[in-house]
Amino acid sequence: MSFSELALHPLVLQALTEGGYTEATPVQAAAIPAALEGRDVLANAETGTGKTAAFLLPALTRLALSNESAPPLRRMPGAPRILVLAPTRELASQVTQAVRKYGKHLRLSSVDVVGGMPYRDQLRLLSKPIDVVVATPGRLIDHVQRNRIDLSTVETLILDEADRMLDMGFSEAVDFISAACPVNRQTMLFTATLDRRMAGLAERLLRNPVRIAVERTAANQARIEQRLHMTDDLGHKRRLLHHFASHPDVGKAIVFAATKRDADSLAEDLVQAGHMAAALHGDMSQGQRNRTLQRLRTGQVRLLVATDVAARGIDVKDISHVINFDLPRVAEDYVHRIGRTGRAGAEGIAISFAGRADRDTVTRIERYTREALAVHVVPGLEPRPRSERFNAAPAAPRPASSRGPRPAANANKPWQKPGRTEGARPEGGRAFAGNKGGRAFR
Ligand code: ADP
Ligand code: MG
Repeated sequence: MSFSELALHPLVLQALTEGGYTEATPVQAAAIPAALEGRDVLANAETGTGKTAAFLLPALTRLALSNESAPPLRRMPGAPRILVLAPTRELASQVTQAVRKYGKHLRLSSVDVVGGMPYRDQLRLLSKPIDVVVATPGRLIDHVQRNRIDLSTVETLILDEADRMLDMGFSEAVDFISAACPVNRQTMLFTATLDRRMAGLAERLLRNPVRIAVERTAANQARIEQRLHMTDDLGHKRRLLHHFASHPDVGKAIVFAATKRDADSLAEDLVQAGHMAAALHGDMSQGQRNRTLQRLRTGQVRLLVATDVAARGIDVKDISHVINFDLPRVAEDYVHRIGRTGRAGAEGIAISFAGRADRDTVTRIERYTREALAVHVVPGLEPRPRSERFNAAPAAPRPASSRGPRPAANANKPWQKPGRTEGARPEGGRAFAGNKGGRAFR
């Protein structure tokens, strides 16, 4: 869709044209009309999809239009009408540059309120009338509490990269800021990931929002539950696979194997055990593959054991489980794999097996999807405790936290420091730094 069709203010459109922008990206095409109407917006779109303009263009248009129809009698110092919250200084400064670019013909005043900048300079800027404040939560609250910034005039509150704000522990700060803004403001929330915490934040901040989701990856869909099972060895993985193959909750499932040979042998195994299973891999002719997929659709095959390449583009609607017998090497493949379940609004469960050698792979997946995988255990098929696995003789005393019954879920991954029962976060996981709230999923 072209920007000229979007009812933007002519001066905003002019700035866009001068900047060489003509076509709106999908998130822009979806968000702009709703935002121009004054609706609250909850937009879920990945990095690089053009979210900045998706919120700034309508916000600036509304500001310009309202100034034309009823020029404010007096613009008050330190009282912005548009407030954009961003998690970091860098992101805030990118937004500020965009405000300058898209608003360059509007004669706006825009102020950055971020940490690390001398207070004196900020106070000087805030003592003048301002239209737009782009802020990181901590520094903004400082100024609000010192009565240097008045948020009671905010007409549009925007949260950019809201998921990162939560990751950084700004949840309460955001609540404080939103409470300082008028109740009848417009609120727009942009995030790359949607999970329960985000749903909670949206619930608190937004009123009857227009929901926009652009090219969601599987991992971003809250309706796929992701579980991790720690495994000792191949035999343990096979026993777990048979457990799930016979489990009443498992309807149709795709089992991912690392190689064609593994796919064949696991499928054969499952058939031997009486399951309707089949392999799908690149050594099969296209005709064979199509027939196998057709049998999966019609229910003649219930368990499909596949390799990554063969599984690309499998579109079968009612897959209840994806089981990663072997984890993919590449985090992106993980997302493609688990996307085979939870299709068309259905709930899905993704189960991954991981041995100690998979530690880095799990960390990569968690960073890529920005979600920690919850560790689950099957009673009777628990992994051996760490000390038994690596030492024949009892080794160092086990930490207190691993004594007694093991939690059935959210247990630590064995490579994590003992005693961290509260979160299965990858150590040093950048995306989780400061996430004091713990886990996204429980
Ligand atoms: P996000 O916030 O979703 O990660 P940005 O808003 O930072 O994405 O935009 C990513 C890049 O795409 C920026 O360089 C921006 O200038 C550019 N961009 C945004 N919208 C358009 C558009 N409609 N046409 C061309 N380029 C665009
Ligand atoms: Mg952005």
